[in-house]
Amino acid sequence: GWDVRGVLRKNWLLIATVVSVPLGVGLGVVLRDHGSLSQLEKSYLGFPGELLMRMLKLIILPLIASSIITGMASLESEVSGRIGLRAVVYYFTTTAIAVVLGIVLVIAIKPGGSVNAGDIDRFGTSQNVSMVDAMLDLVRNMFPENLVQACFQQYKTKREEIVPTSGVMNTTSFLSLFHTSSPQVDTQRDYAIVGSYLDGINILGLIVFCLVFGSVIGKMGERGRLLVDFFDALNEATMRVVQIIMCYMPIGILFLIAAKIIAVDDWSIFSKLGLYMATVLSGLAIHALLVLPLLYLVVVRKNPYVFAWGIAQALLTALMISSSSATLPVTFQCVEENNGVDKRITRFMLPVGATINMDGTALYEAVAAIFIAQLNNYPLGIGQIITISITATAASIGAAGVPNAGLVTMVIVLTAVGLPANDVTLIIAVDWLLDRFRTVINVLGDAYGAGIVEKLSEAELGRTSSPSAAYPEHCH
Ligand code: ASP
Repeated sequence: GWDVRGVLRKNWLLIATVVSVPLGVGLGVVLRDHGSLSQLEKSYLGFPGELLMRMLKLIILPLIASSIITGMASLESEVSGRIGLRAVVYYFTTTAIAVVLGIVLVIAIKPGGSVNAGDIDRFGTSQNVSMVDAMLDLVRNMFPENLVQACFQQYKTKREEIVPTSGVMNTTSFLSLFHTSSPQVDTQRDYAIVGSYLDGINILGLIVFCLVFGSVIGKMGERGRLLVDFFDALNEATMRVVQIIMCYMPIGILFLIAAKIIAVDDWSIFSKLGLYMATVLSGLAIHALLVLPLLYLVVVRKNPYVFAWGIAQALLTALMISSSSATLPVTFQCVEENNGVDKRITRFMLPVGATINMDGTALYEAVAAIFIAQLNNYPLGIGQIITISITATAASIGAAGVPNAGLVTMVIVLTAVGLPANDVTLIIAVDWLLDRFRTVINVLGDAYGAGIVEKLSEAELGRTSSPSAAYPEHCH
C-alpha cells in the first residue's frame, strides 16, 4: 500500500516549506490591511527571515572552498579537464538558448509597444559602464590579490546598500548605485557592476583559487593526503550544518515572505508592466519546462521531471530568497542526496554554476533590454540584436548570485546598444518578482547541468570510485 507516514517523514521539510509560503503571504496581507504596523515593527517582522539569509550566507565560504577543493582533488587532472570542458559547453549552450528564446518572445509579443515610457516613473540618473571595463572587472575578480581579503568584507558596506540583508530590494538604496556620489572610491569598480560578490566574499576569485589548489593537492600523492582529508572532512561537517540550517528554513521563509508583502506599496505598477512580466515569465517557463528537460532527456534518458522534483526544495528556496549563491547549500543537498549525482561532479559544478551559469538571468537581460528599446521607440537592427545577445550572455556570467544582480548588470547591455543606462530604473519596481523566478531557473540549470555532465562523463568516472562520505540525514 501507500505509506503515507513514510512519505510525510521523507518529505516533511519540503511540505513545511511549501506550507510556509501561503502562511507567510496570509500573515503579510492581514498585517498590511489590519495591522497598521510602524516602520520599526515592520522591520522586526522580517527578522526571522533575515536570520535565515545570514545562516545560508554564513555557510557559503566553507561550503564552496571544501567542495571545490575535494571535487578537484578526487579527479585526475586530465579527467577534470575534460569534464570541465563539458561543463563549460553546457553552460554556454543553455545560456545561449535562453537568450535566443528571450529575444524571440520579446520581439513577437512586443510588450513595449503597449505601454508608454512616460507612464512609468523613472528614478535618478545613472553612470555609463563600458563593456570593456565590465569584462576586465570580471577577469580581475578571478584573481584576488589577497586571499584573506577575498573572503572578508572587501565590499561589504557597499553591497549591503544595494541588497539589504533580508534580500528585499530597497529602491532608494539601489538608486545610490546610479549616482556616482562618493569621490574617493571608483564606484564602478567598488560595486563591481560585474560582481561576483556575496556579502563581501569574492566568490569568483575564491572559486578560481580553489580549482587550482584542489587539483594541485590531488596530484601531490601521499604528501597531499592530509590536505585532501582535511577538506573532505570539512565538507562533510559543512553539509551537516547545512542540514541543521535547513530545518529552520520554513520559519525563515514564512517571515521573509510576510515582510515582503508588507513592504511592497505600489501594486499598480504590475498592471502597467504586466505584458513585460508575462514575456519574461513565459520565457522562463519554456526554458524550465521544455528546453532543459528535453536536453536532459536526450542526454541522460531518464525522466527530467523526476530530476526536477528531486530538487524541489532548492527551487522553492531560490524562489523565496532570490539568490542562487545563498541557495547553493540546499542545491547541494538535493542534487547529491535526492538525485544521487556523483559528488565529484557536483562538488565543482554546482558552485561554479551558481556563480557563472545563469540561464534565467540571461533570458531576462535580453527581454528587458529589448523591452526598453521598444518603450523608447528605438529601432534595433540585426547587429544590435546580436550585440544584445552577446552582452546579455556576458552580463549573466558577470552577475553575482545575489538578489537583483541581473538588474545591475543590465546596464552593460543597455550601454552596448546605446540605450540610456538609467532606463534600468523603468523596470526596478517589478524586479523583485522577476528576480525570484529567474533565480529558480538559474538553479535549475545548474542542477540539470550536473546531471547531464555526469552522464557524459560516465566513462571517466567509472574508472575510479566515488568518494564515500555519505551524509547522515537529519532533516528528512
Ligand atoms: N538573483 C539572481 C541569482 O541569484 C541573479 C539575478 O539577479 O539575475 O541567481
